[in-house]
Amino acid sequence: MDAHPDSPCKTALIFGISGQDGAYLARLLLADGYRVHGTSRDREMSGFANLVQLGLKAQVGLHSAVLTDFRSVIEVIDRVRPDEIYNLAAQSSVGLSFDQPAETVNGCLIGTLNILEAIRFLKLKTRFYSAASSECYGNTGATPADETTPFHPRSPYGVGKAAAFWAVANYREAYGLFACSGILFNHESPLRPARYVTQKVVRGAADIADKKRDRLILGALDVARDWGWAPDYVEAMARMLRHDRPEDFVIATGETHTLEAFVAEVFAQFGLNWRDHVDSDRALLRPSDISYSAGNPEKAHRLLNWRAEARMPQIVAQLVAAEIARRRSPDPSGG
Ligand code: NDP
Repeated sequence: MDAHPDSPCKTALIFGISGQDGAYLARLLLADGYRVHGTSRDREMSGFANLVQLGLKAQVGLHSAVLTDFRSVIEVIDRVRPDEIYNLAAQSSVGLSFDQPAETVNGCLIGTLNILEAIRFLKLKTRFYSAASSECYGNTGATPADETTPFHPRSPYGVGKAAAFWAVANYREAYGLFACSGILFNHESPLRPARYVTQKVVRGAADIADKKRDRLILGALDVARDWGWAPDYVEAMARMLRHDRPEDFVIATGETHTLEAFVAEVFAQFGLNWRDHVDSDRALLRPSDISYSAGNPEKAHRLLNWRAEARMPQIVAQLVAAEIARRRSPDPSGG
């Protein structure tokens, strides 16, 4: 594969390479000619199902690292000496963060601080991307959030991501590190685990189409999100580190849809009417949730020349096609 003109033989280290974004980012950077290393909390125990599914496992260097353990973080960074670090590792479920608040907040903040400190301690010129989240904003209201919108998180996950965001900004200002946060809105793919609502809907509708069950129970259907396509979004991460200055960017499609619209689209693509099969149970609501989330990616358009390609209906079409293919030939890794 030809090397990217901007990146001859660069080395990247991806914390959280086993996750959805880690696998797609590894694919992108390998295609651009990078040497790619990545971490899991336990390399021996992780099957790296997403890397296996993309046919990449043999092409990346895999390491164990626990972000909250400074020794393990500095050791892997010192061993790899990367040009770029991407921190994608986190307890990434908003729902689970209400049950594991300390683990979630601690992991986000201390994990990010440990990487920043390691870069500083080793006196590296490494560029650092940190995964922030639209959850930092909480409800945005009808005016889409941009990089100047104040944070008001509504979950322990959002609190942890907001704290990590400010740690990155502080190290950039205080020590001149090339460190930036991507404030990414929801992004989906077939690699998303089943616990996320988008996969719940796709797998539920597929089960109903296959006559394995008749009903799907969801929480509130009037919540609204900006849903993007994960492979588009990892491209934005890479562009942030190739930009001439370290800056934070909102990454979103700029279109917000209700969960009801998403559900209707999924069921329609299976030839079903969602109204015949879906129940909404308020008991499934979280202690506090975001009802409306809208993002304004104008800065990324202008400075990174980045735009989300896929919009909600195309995303649904790809998720549905992948689910149908998965059911026809279950992947050997079990992913
Ligand atoms: P995934 O959940 O797919 O992957 C996250 C990775 O973090 C996993 O590979 C896992 O690696 C590691 N991990 C899981 N739990 C913990 C924990 N408690 N402590 C440390 N590491 C953990 O997430 P995505 O790929 O979807 O997202 C990547 C990053 O972007 C995450 O930080 C997420 O919070 C953030 N983000 C995601 C959005 C989305 O819509 N997908 C939106 C905005 C932000 P292992 O188990 O191998 O150690």
